[in-house]
Amino acid sequence: MALTPMMEQYLEIKEQYADAILFFRLGDFYEMFFEDAKLASRELEITLTGRDAGQPEKVPMCGVPFHAADNYIHKLIEKGYKVAICEQVEDPKASKGLVKREVIRVVTPGTVMDGSSLNDKENNYLVAIYRYPGNIIGLALTDLSTGLFQVTQLEGQYAPDVLKDELERLAPREIVVPEDQISTGLRLQEAAGLVVTPLESRAFGPEAAIPTLKQHFGPKVSDDFLQANPAVTGAAAGLLEYLIRTQRRKLNHITSISRYTPGSFMVLDGVARRNLEISRDIRDGEKKGSLLGVLDATKTAMGGRMLRRWLEQPLIDINRINDRLDAVAELVHSALLRDELTQSLKHIYDLERLTAKAAYGSANGRDMLALLASLEKLPLLRQALKDCQCSLLRKIYDRFDCLTDLKELLNVALAENPPVSLREGGLIKTGFHPEVDQLRSAARDGKNWLASLEAREREKTSIKSLKVGFNKVFGYYLEVTRANLNLVPDYYQRRQTLANAERFITPDLKEYESMILGAEDRLVDLEYTLFVDLRNRVAAEVDRIQNTAILLATVDTLVALAEVASRQGYVRPEITDDGVIDILEGRHPVVEIALGPGGFVPNDTLLDGGLNRLGLITGPNMGGKSTYQRQVAHIVLMAQVGSFVPAARAKIGTVDRIFARVGASDDLRSGQSTFMVEMQETKQIIDHATDKSLVIIDELGRGTSNLEGMAIAQSVIEYLHDVIGCRTLFSTHYHELAELEGILPGLKNFATAVREQGDEVTFLRKVIRAQASKSYGVHCAQLAGLPGEIISRANQLVGQLEIHQRASQEVVAGKAQSAAAAAEQLSLFVRQNDDALKKEVLALDISSMTPIDCLNFLYQLQRKL
Ligand code: ADP
Repeated sequence: MALTPMMEQYLEIKEQYADAILFFRLGDFYEMFFEDAKLASRELEITLTGRDAGQPEKVPMCGVPFHAADNYIHKLIEKGYKVAICEQVEDPKASKGLVKREVIRVVTPGTVMDGSSLNDKENNYLVAIYRYPGNIIGLALTDLSTGLFQVTQLEGQYAPDVLKDELERLAPREIVVPEDQISTGLRLQEAAGLVVTPLESRAFGPEAAIPTLKQHFGPKVSDDFLQANPAVTGAAAGLLEYLIRTQRRKLNHITSISRYTPGSFMVLDGVARRNLEISRDIRDGEKKGSLLGVLDATKTAMGGRMLRRWLEQPLIDINRINDRLDAVAELVHSALLRDELTQSLKHIYDLERLTAKAAYGSANGRDMLALLASLEKLPLLRQALKDCQCSLLRKIYDRFDCLTDLKELLNVALAENPPVSLREGGLIKTGFHPEVDQLRSAARDGKNWLASLEAREREKTSIKSLKVGFNKVFGYYLEVTRANLNLVPDYYQRRQTLANAERFITPDLKEYESMILGAEDRLVDLEYTLFVDLRNRVAAEVDRIQNTAILLATVDTLVALAEVASRQGYVRPEITDDGVIDILEGRHPVVEIALGPGGFVPNDTLLDGGLNRLGLITGPNMGGKSTYQRQVAHIVLMAQVGSFVPAARAKIGTVDRIFARVGASDDLRSGQSTFMVEMQETKQIIDHATDKSLVIIDELGRGTSNLEGMAIAQSVIEYLHDVIGCRTLFSTHYHELAELEGILPGLKNFATAVREQGDEVTFLRKVIRAQASKSYGVHCAQLAGLPGEIISRANQLVGQLEIHQRASQEVVAGKAQSAAAAAEQLSLFVRQNDDALKKEVLALDISSMTPIDCLNFLYQLQRKL
């Protein structure tokens, strides 16, 4: 049996989009069939039905109403699927037979343009990777929703590691790779859990790549560059080709390719990013408890995204850092200036995404209104920067384009309160276009005439109950009840008979009707055309708007940093390249907020490449070691971002990279043991740290025996100290390692101070030049609320163990083992409850026992031991 023509059409289209779920438009629904239907009904929890397709059995089908489709698409994208949207591309009324249908867009996780799948303050990256012979990797990335398009080349032995770092930084939703390099993609997918899309390899090769890029970017990309950089060219072209295929429309908002080198930023690998909680809290992945959570006082989405990018890519160039610091300083000093800028920024919408939507052709009247409202704030914002002294703010002032022409255009053309829909008029302001005005007044006059018609006809005919009405089939009519039919005049023409009434028209009525309806239809069409034209005129200025958006984002970010700095009492760090980190009264930016005013104990730090290159920190659990180490990393990172820092004074000799490894970060997902992960992370440090790096190691060697753990910790310390010479903070519970001070000249001991008064133990959270003598583990256990019985037994055991340890040390030292020590040693292994035994013995009434009783009792006692 033959399939129905519609099903044939469906299958033909589906074949071209095999890797996507096809949303097939049928009237007011998007329908899915066959496997797509089964999958979608499961994932979206919608009913699976069947449809007659000309076959003996119905084919599986499910559908979603088109007006609610966004939500369903969002759900599928979140789950990593792609959705191909197939529309009716001709008017069903006008077509004979089967309506023509085409896929108008494929939505994929990396190409979401708007709606609930996008987070305002985060970029949504799509990446392409192209491996080129000779250890060269081309990496291209884009954020389709803002128009950002960047490329970089990674090369040399460590290119794969740098790629991993970059991907961890970008956290792309989707990666495009050449088909013949899919194995690379799959490895990445496994590691990062992202969607990998293969694209035919030809698109990446120079023959196809160069024309693809030339066609889109024109003279903005030079032939020489493309020829000389095949890896980057391939990646960029692969990415663009994928966009063209999925979006199926012009991508005018992607205006240029910018190049960057990861080496010009401080390097942070995924481990460091996570452990330092730069943009996400390690526990729940939220921004709230992270460094970004503290610093993000930005007012606009663009600023929010920029601050995130700054934090994820701190600078290493001292001049650039100082440019930012100069600007933050100027803003810190003038609360008035900050306030003026904030007042304007608060009202500015996401220019980047609005312009992208305009260029993409998906912006509606409300979007244009948001654009206009934002543009209106620009002159005041620029004006506020007029007297700024620092070079960065001056540059922004000089280059700031207020886009006045666009604002004026939108101001005169766009209606004050346009609807969301583009198909119901109300988009264009009165006075902008004569024909719009004429049609509007014609429609209005007609309606006025109609409104008064009822009264006029009632009077003329004396029919009190006469009504004017409208329906879709007959248009406007006059309705007269049956009882009054005798009063109907001759010029009324009968159109419709109802049970109780008849409906009539008059020549006048028809004339006005065609005027009203004609005017309204024409008005909707004309307004739509004018609106699209307006949108295109905005799109034509996408370069200018994007430039302004970047400057705005920069201002917003700088104001946010200044705002937080003045609120939290941060200071400007002095940036040097002498390799010295010298912090007076430093604080942890996140913990200090959690603890509230006065709760945080500040600490000093001195790390240099010489005699203070490695700080070894001992001290009890909960003493404050981790907090201290991270605070140093945060202060250095913030300084290199160009932010003020939480300290009384700070001199920061820049670092090329921060490593932060924290004990016991069990990587359960990949099924690796804690210890193995620890060793791999340590290898990363050993492989990549330089004498300009800052290394934070919070416990090492816990996952193995004490002896081995300590040995590994010591040899790593020696290596970092002797061979790499990086600035290091190393915390450990192996107090014995403190013996290294004096042996390694650059190692200094630190401990978190503890005050003991009688039985009371207080952790002072002060880092002092000392070595810890005790661990206070039992104290911690007590703080954690373990029962008193366990605590006192543990204390007892600690005492015994100490005697035992001393005794065995004496044995080792060749001294005689005392009988008392031997007895203590024995008793250590008596595991049952001493108290119970004691009670039993004490309860004996010896005077009444026979010798046999005593023997029996002893026998039982022995069995219990
Ligand atoms: P450790 O690494 O030594 O086990 P942490 O750094 O995890 O200790 O600190 C334990 C707790 O002590 C933290 O939850 C924090 O609230 C508090 N703390 C740490 N450092 C300070 C400080 N400098 N001032 C006040 N409280 C602190």
